[in-house]
Amino acid sequence: APCLVWFRDDLRLSDHPALHSATATRRPVICLYVFDETSRSPGARPIGGAARWWLAQSLRSLQNSLAAHGVPLLLRKGPAAAIVAEVVRASAASDVLWDTIAQAPHQAIERDVASVLHDLGVTVHSFAGDLLAVPEQVRTKEGRGMRVFMPFWRRIQAMGAPPDPLPAPRHLRPGSGLRSDTVESLKLEPARPDWAGGLRATWTTGESTARKRLKHFLKDTLAGYTEDRDRPDRDGTSGLSPHLRFGEISPRQVWHAAHFAVAERHTLAGDADKFLSELGWREFCRHLLFDVPDLDTRNLQSSFDSFPWQHDEAALKAWQRGQTGYPVVDAGMRQLWHTGVMHNRVRMVVASFLVKHLLIDWREGERWFWDTLVDADAGSNPANWQWVAGCGADAAPYFRVFNPVLQGEKFDPDGEYVKRWVPELAQLPKKFIHQPWEATPLELASAGITLGTTYPHPIVDHRKGRERALKAYEKTRAK
Ligand code: FAD
Repeated sequence: APCLVWFRDDLRLSDHPALHSATATRRPVICLYVFDETSRSPGARPIGGAARWWLAQSLRSLQNSLAAHGVPLLLRKGPAAAIVAEVVRASAASDVLWDTIAQAPHQAIERDVASVLHDLGVTVHSFAGDLLAVPEQVRTKEGRGMRVFMPFWRRIQAMGAPPDPLPAPRHLRPGSGLRSDTVESLKLEPARPDWAGGLRATWTTGESTARKRLKHFLKDTLAGYTEDRDRPDRDGTSGLSPHLRFGEISPRQVWHAAHFAVAERHTLAGDADKFLSELGWREFCRHLLFDVPDLDTRNLQSSFDSFPWQHDEAALKAWQRGQTGYPVVDAGMRQLWHTGVMHNRVRMVVASFLVKHLLIDWREGERWFWDTLVDADAGSNPANWQWVAGCGADAAPYFRVFNPVLQGEKFDPDGEYVKRWVPELAQLPKKFIHQPWEATPLELASAGITLGTTYPHPIVDHRKGRERALKAYEKTRAK
């Protein structure tokens, strides 16, 4: 009887524990992906538009990799438990294998699937694979999840090397002639208007691209990462986040490859430590989500529950569209809309701008990112939003309000990043690129800019916005 491998956020063939075990049996293998928006599991969140686009491409990449082995990827849409059971019945599979997702709503779905399969007399095998460590193993003395990053990361490091990545199977035997839905029929991609042109121009999805990206990063970009990672005008980071999000590459593959690079070139050690600690932040956010399934809606620090957020539709729209009048904020928001990602430093600046200068609830920003990021991650997105807003785990203190002009001048000193994404400012002399309102009318005119017409006036004055934010915070603290 064949084995059924249920693919989920692990759209790869290498270091895939479930697929590896299935092939080790030498029995025929059926590969299934279920697009499930119907399982009623509290907290299960429909993925956003940009991530849906990525998923469609990633499924095609996986189809191609499997086709090279003569194995189809069965695609189905609907509630996972019913569909897995249907495929088991139709194929007479005796074993079902999957890699777990350490998130409460997914675990509830896994339990449903396991229970249906149990009733059918099918053996279930599940494996850990999407994290460096299993959340249940990283607890405080009191048995709670850890809320401070450094001790958390030290603990993970003390656990030693994660298991070696598993090789991709060399041979696969196809296990069924079952019909598959097409990727198109899953309706993951935009039809009209087709807003995905920028995503197509920016990204190639899939496992082999992820591996190439990692290789290129370790060879050419890792040296200098500690400093360059903060520079949106440079190509100084790995660009792996959406590949990691969809499991086109696993964190332990990244971990081992980075250690291997250091073994070959010792001078990379410091930069590799920094890079791996970022992978540690991903881990931290996921572990947090494991403990706090409603991380996207609930302030981790409940003192923020009474925070006087403002409802300002016009300001929210201006922020979303990159029309705030602050060049680095606008550049970030436009980069996000066009490419589905935004540089990390700029994510922090735009998030701080929304929650502090505009006093808009972090959940509004989180939702916008959720819909527009190709790497939108159920852990990293809300955890980072809460971190910036000051209400999260190990959070930046609320009173640290980023000055968007100084941030721009420091991390985009020549204005290259701004010029790329806010082309209407491209002719402005460098000293005004982060604060066009400081230029004289003549200087603006010779750069082809009319403030208020070709580029907006700042929607809020930095100093006033900052003071208003601090006052709002004082009120919350006083309660
Ligand atoms: P690199 O610098 O090459 O880092 C390597 C990997 O480490 C990344 O691919 C990512 O998986 C992880 N990582 C890096 N920084 C962080 C971080 N601060 N938190 C968690 N993991 C991190 N990242 C997401 O993957 N998904 C999100 O939805 C997301 N939302 C964010 C929202 C806000 C408000 C902020 C401030 C940050 C958010 N991040 C998110 C974190 C970070 O911005 C991205 O992971 C990073 O920009 C991805 O680029 P990279 O792969 O080149 O990163």
